[in-house]
Amino acid sequence: MDHDVVVIGAGAAGLMCAITAAARGRRVLVLDHANKVGKKILMSGGGRCNFTNTGTTPANYLSANPHFCKSALARYTPADFIALVDAHGIAWHEKELGQLFCNDSSKQIVRMLLDECAAVGADVRTHCTVERIERPDSGGFHLRTTLGSVECASLVIATGGLSIPSMGASGFGYDVARQFGHDVLPQRAGLVPLTLSGKHQQRLQDLSGVSFEVEARCNGARFRNQLLVTHRGISGPAILQISSYWQPGDDLRLDLLPMHDASSWLALQQRERGNAELRTVLSDVLPKRFAQRLCEVWLPSRPMKQYTPAQLKDIASTLADWPLVASGTEGYRTAEVTLGGVDTDGLSSSTMMSKLVPGLFFIGEVVDVTGWLGGYNFQWAWASGRAAGEVA
Ligand SMILES: Cc1cc2nc3c(=O)[nH]c(=O)nc-3n(C[C@H](O)[C@H](O)[C@H](O)COP(=O)(O)OP(=O)(O)OC[C@H]3O[C@@H](n4cnc5c(N)ncnc54)[C@H](O)[C@@H]3O)c2cc1C
Repeated sequence: MDHDVVVIGAGAAGLMCAITAAARGRRVLVLDHANKVGKKILMSGGGRCNFTNTGTTPANYLSANPHFCKSALARYTPADFIALVDAHGIAWHEKELGQLFCNDSSKQIVRMLLDECAAVGADVRTHCTVERIERPDSGGFHLRTTLGSVECASLVIATGGLSIPSMGASGFGYDVARQFGHDVLPQRAGLVPLTLSGKHQQRLQDLSGVSFEVEARCNGARFRNQLLVTHRGISGPAILQISSYWQPGDDLRLDLLPMHDASSWLALQQRERGNAELRTVLSDVLPKRFAQRLCEVWLPSRPMKQYTPAQLKDIASTLADWPLVASGTEGYRTAEVTLGGVDTDGLSSSTMMSKLVPGLFFIGEVVDVTGWLGGYNFQWAWASGRAAGEVA
């Protein structure tokens, strides 16, 4: 088999790259080891695929080089992807914060990408394992695969990150990067629930299922959204977001009353409800069971009128800056993304091509660019796939 471009990985980035390259008249082959394409697209957004975020900016991404993602994101925007979705008649809606979801099913996004591949003649094969990649002296690449030998001029690695190994995730892309002399930055799970242990877990464990709004803060990042207590620790959008900024030992703080200035709110309660106990007052703004637990363990509950100004100040600072000691994360089993990956120093930010090996490209999540929760990771996959497809 002889092709101009071989893309390894038929996920979001790989399929977008294949469509773009084949539309230029390149003979494109996409290879995936899984039994079907786009598995993460299918499971994303609770089955409705949060396919982009209209508010996407480079500030929504983590990378050792925060400038790297700028060029690709600027050249393929959320509006470009929405135009594609619209052209395929896929109905969508905006949830919160610019997050766009399919009205019906994420299957529509996979169908759209496969229809686009078919329209431009990109050949997509599943059940294919790439056993070896060689670079002959004559240039190009020689691949030994379970479907036979494949020659190509350009090779695009779009094999994603390590999250959800049961869905076909592998470290293949990192191995290829190392094989060709690229640095690979350490990986860790991102957008992932945090675990608690010991007394920290015991204090919250039986509140599993309780959810409320917080502002989570860590290492200069802050996210205001829901927290969900789980059997093993904490999750919910605020925690998933902050998990990408947290590492074991880091200081994690929660503002439990993000909608109020805790000091002035407590002073108001003292003036207006002096006979009510703190736990009752807190139950108006927090789930009752959580308010009770706060008062059992962290805040002694008394009638509001009995607190001195200094005691009220202490309570306010606990509520606004609650330290939470997480022990770890749930890891790749449940993480939505992998932080770290192929070092962007070795790649062109406009084309995603290797600076070391002409014709070799890395796109999507395998690269050290990781988005926030909310459609940003797919937008990076589309944009980086497009950038590579324009030149591969
Ligand atoms: C549960 C879940 C929900 C998510 N929801 C959202 C969401 O709503 N919005 C959002 O923006 N992001 C979401 N994400 C993140 C998003 O899915 C990824 O960031 C995105 O899919 C990355 O695209 P990619 O093409 O780089 O990799 P992937 O989509 O992971 O595709 C990689 C492909 O490479 C194949 N592959 C891997 N190893 C090999 C190998 N050795 N040989 C051949 N093929 C290989 C895989 O089978 C896969 O098809 C979610 C992730 C998860 C896990």
